[in-house]
Formats: sequence, structure tokens, C-alpha cells
Amino acid sequence: MSDLAERLQAIRERLHTASERSGREPSSVELLAVSKTFPIEAIREAMEAGQLLFGENKVQEVLAKVPALPSKLRWHLIGHLQSNKVRKILPLVDAVHSVDSLDLARDIQRIGGELGLFPKVYLEVNLAAESTKYGFKPNDLREGALDALYEMDRLYIQGLMCIPPFDPMPEKTRPYFATLRTLRDELEKRGGASLPKLSMGMSHDFEVAIEEGATIVRVGSALFGERTYSKA
Ligand SMILES: *Cc1c(COP(=O)(O)O)cnc(C)c1O
Repeated sequence: MSDLAERLQAIRERLHTASERSGREPSSVELLAVSKTFPIEAIREAMEAGQLLFGENKVQEVLAKVPALPSKLRWHLIGHLQSNKVRKILPLVDAVHSVDSLDLARDIQRIGGELGLFPKVYLEVNLAAESTKYGFKPNDLREGALDALYEMDRLYIQGLMCIPPFDPMPEKTRPYFATLRTLRDELEKRGGASLPKLSMGMSHDFEVAIEEGATIVRVGSALFGERTYSKA
């Protein structure tokens, strides 16, 4: 087995164990392999080890990678999406985890209509009110934004997504995951529609995220190795 195949198997086992530990079906948690910055060959290797679902954070990378790989792969966009790239990305991805404003949602609604698509989206929530991060504030969702989103009939809203402030100790991040789940429960009770999915947890804290209800974990470096960025 290749190193990557071994790492993939180890992550799957950890995902399985964390699900069972929290009384959940392991099949209720998807593994999104975050392949950003990694080359086609690495993705192919993961594919050969059985991984078919990949996440990227840049539109340019999706545009380069998708046509170069078998069509059985599925792709999710997890990074901030600029309005002028919506038209290019929608036909290539299965879901967008990073719907972070009403303006972007309106663009997806309009262009989804023009293209005949019903894009699956997650609403990104900025839980710590970090000015450097994108996302809806919980109060925006409570006070009208969610109602406006439900009006957009092209958006197939899956649930919520968060990127908590980084802390090397996963237990420090647990309260954010719990808060996202509670916010989801609260928003569902207000009526409108269900928000069954929670996109939360990365390489160093995905098990804690699963314990708090994640339905899809976004794992990059634990699978593909450390990223090196060509530009700072
Ligand atoms: C890069 C990235 C990940 C994966 O991070 P790792 O720590 O490498 O697992 C997850 N989510 C988002 C939004 C990312 O940009």
C-alpha cells in the first residue's frame, strides 16, 4: 500500500471510531479529501485507494483539475467564491460549502437558474465574529438572512459550515462545533426548512467535530501531507 493509501485508511478508521463513540452511524459522516495545492497525481492516488470526493478552495484549481481526472470524482468548493466566478464553477462542483453572503447567494440563485442547476450549498457561519473571515453572523441568519435564503428556490441548502479560529488543541475548538450544531437546531425550529448537514472539522480536529455532529469533515494535510504554498 502507498503511504497515501495508508493514511487514507487510518483516517477512515478514526472517522469510524469517532462516529461509533458518539453513537452515530459511520456512514452518516462523509470524508471530503481537501486536495488544494496538491497535484493531479496525488488525487489520482487517493482515487485508486477508493476516495472519490474532493474539496478545493480555489476556482482556478478546480478548473484545472476536474477536466484532467475521471468524471466519477465529485468536487466540493470550500473556499470563498467571488461573484464573477460563479458561472464557471457551478457546473463543475457538487456543492459549495462557502456561501458567505446574501449577495453571493443571489448570484448563485440567478446563474443557477440560467444554467438549469439547483446547486447544493452550505451557509458559512463566522462564529467567532473574526473580521478576517467570511461568513454570516449567527444574528444575521436569525434576523432575516435565512428567510431571504429560503426564498431563493434554486439554492438547495444543505446546512451550515464553519472554520473556527485555529487552535492546535482540538478540545479548544469543541465549543465552536457545538455552537454550530445548536445554531442549526435553533434555526430549524424557527421553521422554513431542515438544515441536516454540518460541514466542520479539519485534519487536527475532525474527531471532535464528529462527536459534535459533523456530517462532512474536510481533511487535507492529514491525508496529503503538509502544504507548501508557492506564493505567501
Ligand atoms: C484547507 C482547508 C481545509 C483542510 O485543512 P487541513 O488542516 O489541511 O485538513 C478544510 N477546510 C477549509 C475551508 C480549508 O480551506
